[in-house]
Amino acid sequence: MDNNIYLDNNATTMTDPKVLEEMIPYFCDKFGNPSSIYKMAHTAHNAIEKSREVLSEFMGAAEPKEIYFTSCGSESANMAIKGVLSANKNKKHIITTKVEHPCVLNLYKELEKEGYITDYITVDDNGELNIDELKEKVNKDTALVSIMAANNETGAIYPYEEAAEIVKSINKDTCFFVDAVQAAGKIKLDVKNTKVDLMGISGHKFHAPKGIGALYIKNGTRINPLIVGGHQEKGLRAGTENVPYIAGLKKAAELAQNALEYENNEVKRLRDKLEQGILSNVKNARLNSRTSKRVPNTTNIGFEYIEGELILLHFDELNICASSGSACTSGSLEPSHVLRAMHTPFTSLHGSIRFSLSRFTKEDEIDFVIENVPKVIKKLAKISPFQKELTALLGE
Ligand code: PLP
Repeated sequence: MDNNIYLDNNATTMTDPKVLEEMIPYFCDKFGNPSSIYKMAHTAHNAIEKSREVLSEFMGAAEPKEIYFTSCGSESANMAIKGVLSANKNKKHIITTKVEHPCVLNLYKELEKEGYITDYITVDDNGELNIDELKEKVNKDTALVSIMAANNETGAIYPYEEAAEIVKSINKDTCFFVDAVQAAGKIKLDVKNTKVDLMGISGHKFHAPKGIGALYIKNGTRINPLIVGGHQEKGLRAGTENVPYIAGLKKAAELAQNALEYENNEVKRLRDKLEQGILSNVKNARLNSRTSKRVPNTTNIGFEYIEGELILLHFDELNICASSGSACTSGSLEPSHVLRAMHTPFTSLHGSIRFSLSRFTKEDEIDFVIENVPKVIKKLAKISPFQKELTALLGE
């Protein structure tokens, strides 16, 4: 990882060298097409089925055949949502939350253009889901509800199991999809003991490479394919399977499962140390999503009256990689839709930084960040246009 202090693991993670090792034989040695009939192809086929078994355990599915391989979390969400709606064309009402990832929110915007009626569940100032709103929104025309398991920006964990219970108690035919991309590898998944019909995950968020994901589809769910072609994945996802990446996903899931305890003890300890270190040393720092129900690796801290992009540029000088909620890549500098939905005060809306750790994060890296954040903020406070407000806050 060079000399970078990488605290942006919710964006993507380093591929674990053990995962890479698992993948390599399937490129030049065991490279057969899993659909062919000779022995070499059987090796590839068996690697896929072994991975399906491991992923089934990882997500807590009832059976391996409920797992389908995809290319990423976005594909899993699109396959689930579009696939379910295409197979249930008579219903035109869909529900999600205001704080989903764009792979769900932007898809809902597209579906609105196609005539779907949408409802968006809100969150409170702490980032907790106002789950009771579901009771008013679900009706006999509701085809699908989509709720994430954990939020990518704040790490807040949403009670999707309870939400699924509510939805099914009102309309048992409504399908329930969970985007579990930020939960996989951080909290235990046990989908069979819930009323969830579909659940998506993405390998590059838990130390597999980019380009591989999975979708759980409960047996009996009515769904049409997103990609039509050959018979792969029981006709639900055509295209020759990405065997090396599927094998890598298996290894990543095994390693993540074994590291769950470490994640919830040691990674959480380092996250809490970082959080406390910053909050107690920087007077204009404020914790976004103060809820205790968070994945263990994530904290989102607002620095009042300071510009988030400037903080990140100064972090970069120190080789600290973190991220802000601003959609600056779109050229708009729009503040994060998640923080806005939480009514984050405007004073820290533009200066919020997400730090996301992993099992590879070291204590001395956290110490370095704790030592340097106050220096960066002090420097930027001097050039902030909000001198009066900052003087009142910082007392200097
Ligand atoms: N869902 C959530 C909650 C995410 O955080 C992300 C990626 O950041 C995605 C979906 C999309 O995953 P992918 O990048 O694998 O398409």
